[in-house]
Amino acid sequence: MAEPKPDISAILQRLREGYPNATYELDWQTPEQMLVATTLAAQCTDERVNRVTKTLFVKYPSPQAFAQADLDELANELKPTGFFKQKARAVQTINRALVQRFGDKVPTTMRELTSIKGIARKTANVVLNCCFDLPTGIIVDTHVARVSQRMGLSRQKDPEKIEADLMRQVPKDVWTFWGPAMVLVGRYVCTAKDPGCDRCHFLEQCPRKDVSGPRPAKVTLPPPRVVTAVSPRTTAGATSPAGAAATAPAVTPKAATPKAATTTAKAATSPSSPTASAATALDPWVEALASEIDEPYFLELLDFVERERAEHQVFPPREQVFSAYVHTPLSAVKVLVLGQDPYHDDDQAHGLSFSVGPDVKVPPSLRNIYKELHGDLGLQPPKHGHLVKWAQQGVMLLNTVLTVRAHQAGSHQGHGWERFTDATIKAVSQRSEHVVFVLWGKPAQKKKKLIDGRKHTILEANHPSPLSASKGFFGSKPFSAINAALRSKGQAEIDWRL
Ligand code: SF4
Repeated sequence: MAEPKPDISAILQRLREGYPNATYELDWQTPEQMLVATTLAAQCTDERVNRVTKTLFVKYPSPQAFAQADLDELANELKPTGFFKQKARAVQTINRALVQRFGDKVPTTMRELTSIKGIARKTANVVLNCCFDLPTGIIVDTHVARVSQRMGLSRQKDPEKIEADLMRQVPKDVWTFWGPAMVLVGRYVCTAKDPGCDRCHFLEQCPRKDVSGPRPAKVTLPPPRVVTAVSPRTTAGATSPAGAAATAPAVTPKAATPKAATTTAKAATSPSSPTASAATALDPWVEALASEIDEPYFLELLDFVERERAEHQVFPPREQVFSAYVHTPLSAVKVLVLGQDPYHDDDQAHGLSFSVGPDVKVPPSLRNIYKELHGDLGLQPPKHGHLVKWAQQGVMLLNTVLTVRAHQAGSHQGHGWERFTDATIKAVSQRSEHVVFVLWGKPAQKKKKLIDGRKHTILEANHPSPLSASKGFFGSKPFSAINAALRSKGQAEIDWRL
């Protein structure tokens, strides 16, 4: 039986009742400021961005000022927003484009705005919808994507495809209201982990797709949520399609729904996004990987992982995604052992290929590595599978994909990690004098083309998994071969004892 079509006019009416002056919760006074604020909001809460821009916009009052800023000083100002070095570069690149191509002003077409490096459709829609009231499209961020799926408005996962679905169903004259309003729904009611169907304006219309638990028998609606961000729209009064902000009861957003406020407060203080710690994790590598980190695909990749985390369990934990980079800075890499996917069972993956947490059972591939370690150097297999000691000596234990959905091997392949880790391998090859690259199995061996074989040693063998270890891994004696290669170049050997 065909699914009933969503009742868009009923949803819109409820949306107007519940979110009368919906707009973005970023503070801004000019479209140029909104563009900067939106760029800073990637992987950061709006509350934190507002704290930073309060002084930032005083120090840098115009696109000219951002364009001419000292990059290190600007990065320092942006530190609390995470990924501050790449955000500083992005902000400067964008503002230089405004100065050089658009007379210090934000252009007002989607085509012009997205022609600036670093600006994708979502950011362009935020600025054009919220500052100019231009219906160039519908804002689709993580929240709008999730709510649209649960409400049966789209089955797509890709934000641009979700936007296309919404644009087909929602009348164009309300696009600039719909996006910001749905952001608020997703942020305060239909949250990723705790959909508040019992206080949701749309319970009657919503099929609650993929939401567990029984449908609530009754709804207790909170008072209308009024956006209090500082902007010409909110301070000038009602400009939303609802036209009701001026007469809406003065409800403090935080006080309106205590549960949502608690959720929001937690989100602001907990590592709810690839955090500053992840940014710091990559820090020693940033210069070498800057051209990748600056590409829109990288932030889109982090966004994808965050969307996955909102709906599923993802390994490794957020703060361990870049562990291989933390434990082995670029200047310290002597050996690079390439794995594929992180382990996908509970508590195993912690960001180093083949390695597991100290109290986790040793997985079969690592058991075979230990067998070979014994056969090669006579070392007794340790009782644990925690390889940090190797990483700290310069053995970079890198997977080609850095995250995975729990119990679904390969589920994060093809989303950008391969490009990022290819760049990592190339950076090691180009910037180091001599490294031993260890390529076990065919997928790892395909990366050989990224490595300069004239100055580095490449060791190849079958993969240590139980399926292939006996076909060429056992007996390959990689540990003594690595140390021999290091010795031959006057480098200290690795102490393989764990
Ligand atoms: S009814 Fe539940 S699932 Fe549907 S939009 Fe509201 S909170 Fe989300």
